[in-house]
Amino acid sequence: MNPISFPARGHTRASIFDAMRAARARDVKWQAGRVFSLVFDAGDDVRAVAQQAYELFFAENGLNPTAFPSLRKFETEVVAMVAALLGGDDAIVGNMTSGGTESILMAVKAARDYARKIHPEIKMPEMILPVTAHPAFDKAAHYFDVKVTRTAITAEFRADVNATRAALTPNTILLVGSAPQYAHGVVDPIRELAQLAQEKNILLHVDACVGGMALPFARQLGYAIPDFDFTVPGVTSLSVDLHKYGYAAKGASVILYRSRALRRAMMYVTTEWAGGIYASPTMLGTRPGGAIAAAWAVLNYLGADGYLNLMNVVMKTVELLRAGIAQIGDVKILGNPDMSVLALASDTLDIYQIGDELSARGWHLDRQSFPPSLHLTVHYAHAASAENFLDDLQDAVAAAKKMSARKFFDRALVNAANGAARILPAAWLSKLTRGASPALTGGAAGGGRSAAMYGMLGTLPNRGDLHELMLDLVEDFTAPQ
Ligand SMILES: *Cc1c(COP(=O)(O)O)cnc(C)c1O
Repeated sequence: MNPISFPARGHTRASIFDAMRAARARDVKWQAGRVFSLVFDAGDDVRAVAQQAYELFFAENGLNPTAFPSLRKFETEVVAMVAALLGGDDAIVGNMTSGGTESILMAVKAARDYARKIHPEIKMPEMILPVTAHPAFDKAAHYFDVKVTRTAITAEFRADVNATRAALTPNTILLVGSAPQYAHGVVDPIRELAQLAQEKNILLHVDACVGGMALPFARQLGYAIPDFDFTVPGVTSLSVDLHKYGYAAKGASVILYRSRALRRAMMYVTTEWAGGIYASPTMLGTRPGGAIAAAWAVLNYLGADGYLNLMNVVMKTVELLRAGIAQIGDVKILGNPDMSVLALASDTLDIYQIGDELSARGWHLDRQSFPPSLHLTVHYAHAASAENFLDDLQDAVAAAKKMSARKFFDRALVNAANGAARILPAAWLSKLTRGASPALTGGAAGGGRSAAMYGMLGTLPNRGDLHELMLDLVEDFTAPQ
């Protein structure tokens, strides 16, 4: 039963805002630089600019650019600025979207419809992704009926171009590379992928969602950044999130195309509707003017020198963290990340247990599988918290070393759950996991221990069960508490 009914009468402002502040109590404390995902923040000043711009255009709707020339100006200028940053010339076109996922959905949809036009003989289009490419591509494949082939990566966690070549079929319409990929923060060999795409006359999308607003500045600072943008012939589309290292308000990303023809394949028009002609470039209908305005404001407020300063702080923080992690021992960074996205792993200890210890000390790091690791997206706010993090990491490692007894207990739990998975009806198993669901979120909120949970998920005999389990959890998360 849903315990929430529609409010019969309006509440006072004060009581509403009190309730909202109270609701926040158990949220992760991103303001203190203790969260290594989800929030990108460049401090009070930049945040205030984004907020003010968002508020100024709070009511405006980006659906119809003829009604709001202001938003049209902001969007076209944001697209042009980002294209210029990423080696684009006048031929590059693009749009703003609500985020990386929408940008990627649009890139795949455009590739599909473009192929329908120039390769009508292809009935079941395919795209090739390294195993590390973002799940938004699978989502796009799911929505738009494109077959996905996932390919192996190298020991450095980069796309293996030979594996990509081997996966090509006559139905392949699109290759994907990331700059960098989210899990381990390394840039795929975009030049080689682009060469292959050109050789086969197919499209290449570069997912620069997390790197697009960071890599150009890291390069200007002197860091060795592999080529990834429109300066590479063969890159046909590129996604860049502004609500990540662009430090804009959430709901802001850019999708760029090498040619107008490719972008036209993204767009949607119907001339048959009773309500008139309806045209929209991207997924959304109504689009929040605030997100578009805030992105324009922050890009102009910071400028290249502002972003350069921020990236300098970020990269110095990364160096500090990498040196500190090397010194602690028992933990290590996977691969050789190209910028500020890192995966922390251990050869000797259970890294999820270290994650639990960090959670208990008030840090929020996402858990990753294949191989087991903790994820750190380092941004500006972490400059102030990095030293504390290293201290707590050292303690967490020490604690994990001492935990052999608990480790034994956890392993027993995993084995029990594993055994249970083989004999319990699916519904029971769902219930079992549902009970443990707060731990799945990293345990930050409830302080729960998630190591056993992750061990269990990783060892479930049938990944199909895991799929259903996750759907149960998503249903759970979207029900009122
Ligand atoms: C964040 C991210 C995405 C998805 O972006 P959303 O804004 O979360 O929809 C896609 N790819 C990469 C590499 C990312 O970091």
